[in-house]
Amino acid sequence: MKKPTLGNPQNTIAVLQKYHFNFQKKYGQNFLIDTHVLDKIIASAQITEEDMVLEIGPGIGTMTQYLACAAGKVVAIEVDSALIPVLEDTLEGFDNVEIIHADVLKVDLTRLVEEKNAGRPIKVVANLPYYITTPIIMGLFEKHVPIESITVMVQKEVAERMQTGPGTKDYGALSLAVQYYAKPYIVANVPPNCFMPRPKVGSAVIRLTRHDRPLVQVEDESLLFRIIRASFNQRRKTLVNGLKNSAELDFDKDVLEQAVAALGRGESVRGETLSLEEFALLSNYLSRISEGKAGNESYS
Ligand code: SAM
Repeated sequence: MKKPTLGNPQNTIAVLQKYHFNFQKKYGQNFLIDTHVLDKIIASAQITEEDMVLEIGPGIGTMTQYLACAAGKVVAIEVDSALIPVLEDTLEGFDNVEIIHADVLKVDLTRLVEEKNAGRPIKVVANLPYYITTPIIMGLFEKHVPIESITVMVQKEVAERMQTGPGTKDYGALSLAVQYYAKPYIVANVPPNCFMPRPKVGSAVIRLTRHDRPLVQVEDESLLFRIIRASFNQRRKTLVNGLKNSAELDFDKDVLEQAVAALGRGESVRGETLSLEEFALLSNYLSRISEGKAGNESYS
């Protein structure tokens, strides 16, 4: 196996010039040019030769080279057709890499894992295009793609939102959704000068390790997420009013008041103070109401 050659400014510039490459803002192209950051990503993703890694957005193949040296197999999905001939060049001799030219949001990733890794869980590692961070991560979780972990570069604020708990300003639907499926851990903050071109925002590497079993038991996952979204759509409203006003939910106000009271919370409580466990209890209570099973039970 060849050794990585990219990851520093000089070689990156040489490749870009050879192919007269123009950065496409619409694709969120900020290529990594720092070998320390690359080493850190690879180490924190805990990749072994047993692993199949899915890389989303390989760019000119910088991280792909590092991944190829650590993993058994790398499948990389790139949307920009201008990068395909570049990747064929920079990844020559890295025989365990397969490039797929596609928009990752349109690929059936569960089928891909079935075909390329016999359905065994994969690791996702990427310097993500920031404009689609949330749909990519939530798509992986909600569609139950077999994944062991996701180690990704994202905007710093987004990493913080994923990791934070109740009572902070960053806490929201993304925090709860991510923490429902996985344990988040911010591995490193990465400044703009580690990329070409430099992004206008700070970045961070976050590892999401999928829970073996969900942390909370919910009877209706879809209802849980509708409740969570409704609770944060109108952050300044009380939880009851937020849920009442949601177009995604259909519960009477007195039922919602009952549910919140059964949680042991006052009627003025806001969604942003509830933990994942409390959202799960609320969801299960309301799901039983929908099925006509709830009585005067409390959650304790
Ligand atoms: N991995 C490279 C690196 O670290 O230098 C490039 C990372 S750059 C932040 C994001 C990459 O994702 C770009 O190569 C971009 O073209 C690609 N990309 C953007 N939208 C995409 C999509 N919908 N599907 C697949 N790749 C996409």
